[in-house]
Amino acid sequence: MTAYPLSFWEHESFLSRDFIIIGGGIIGLSTAISLHKTAPNATITLLERGIFPSGASTKNAGFACFGSLTEILSDCNRIGKDATLAIIEKRWRGLEILRKRLGDSAIGYEQYGGYELLFDEQKQAIEQIDQVNMLLRPLFGQKVFSLDNSLIREFGFAPHKIHSLIKNPFEGQIHTGKMMKSLTQYSSELGIEILTGINVREIIDEGSVARVRCSHSSGDITFHTGKVAVCTNALISELLPEYTIKPGRGQVLITSPIALKFKGVFHFDEGFFYFRNVGNRVLFGGGRNIDFMGEETTELQTTKRIQDRLEELLYSVILPDTSFEIEHRWAGIMGFSNSKLPIVQKSSANVVVGFGCNGMGIALGSETGRETAQLLLE
Ligand SMILES: Cc1cc2nc3c(=O)[nH]c(=O)nc-3n(C[C@H](O)[C@H](O)[C@H](O)COP(=O)(O)OP(=O)(O)OC[C@H]3O[C@@H](n4cnc5c(N)ncnc54)[C@H](O)[C@@H]3O)c2cc1C
Repeated sequence: MTAYPLSFWEHESFLSRDFIIIGGGIIGLSTAISLHKTAPNATITLLERGIFPSGASTKNAGFACFGSLTEILSDCNRIGKDATLAIIEKRWRGLEILRKRLGDSAIGYEQYGGYELLFDEQKQAIEQIDQVNMLLRPLFGQKVFSLDNSLIREFGFAPHKIHSLIKNPFEGQIHTGKMMKSLTQYSSELGIEILTGINVREIIDEGSVARVRCSHSSGDITFHTGKVAVCTNALISELLPEYTIKPGRGQVLITSPIALKFKGVFHFDEGFFYFRNVGNRVLFGGGRNIDFMGEETTELQTTKRIQDRLEELLYSVILPDTSFEIEHRWAGIMGFSNSKLPIVQKSSANVVVGFGCNGMGIALGSETGRETAQLLLE
């Protein structure tokens, strides 16, 4: 393609910006919003390679959650109680920011509660409910987890397959599409420029200025900017190879509308499987733990192995007496750090990174964006 020279005006008004944010997911958009709040006169452009954000932020299950009982127990064993509580607090505060910023109706927030299905292998977790409730009391001021086995039949689950059901009134759910639309709209209203279809290929930090080289279907372009934030989640090493993050594919399916007996968000197997109602449909996802190696990928396709397992569990455990069709299947890519916490760091004089929500970006994205913006302004 012939590259024609750009005009003086194009250089002045489009290519020269105070801040460039790369990646239009929850973290990128939240970074831009927080930046604008502190520096309202700064020119901010966000570059996204999809036609609309096409990362985990538009593909997720929409759980407004902070950790199930078995997941919290597993974290306590792995990183200790204090670190576990600190992560849960971060998720809880992050959810508050998101809801306050956009409003519950704009993001389709509904609070039907959260539940965890325990099978025979996890039944010992019941003995630790009081201990976990004690740990969480400073944050929630009351009991978070309680046992309610009467709901197993009421919800229509296979009673002989499930040992116990744990209830958590604090969890909610959002409409992921509405949330991302609303976050994008809010950013635009603040004057943040969002350019899509732009693939950033290279960042050159020259000390006094940074250059961001991009390709677009109309040709290559280079932005000049004071500071750059890289918020590209599991793909961060494509631009900054010094950062390693484990990609983890999440596969999801959604049923046709059915006569559904439950509402709320549900987890099992330390959070590796999750399902919820979307109106009268069931959205069901997860299963990375049955093929960790295969799912450590940035490829967006679904696989027969995981989808078959999801379907089997749907027929045998979740909807044993209901006929349904599977209407849609998809996959998205999460980014996992060793600490289970997002990474917000300075990469060079003018480049900052904010990434790695460990599969909990709805809860962690807003706060991580705020921290990324703060570092950009230092
Ligand atoms: C199937 C699934 C279910 C999930 N369920 C939940 C849930 O229920 N609750 C929850 O809290 N979290 C959930 N998550 C996790 C949550 O979606 C993520 O933690 C969050 O969306 C991450 O946001 P992000 O902004 O870091 O990254 P992303 O949303 O991945 O955004 C990164 C963006 O960067 C863009 N990009 C990448 N490289 C470039 C480049 N070179 N140039 C320009 N743009 C680029 C990508 O196109 C993408 O839009 C789920 C994730 C998946 C995949």
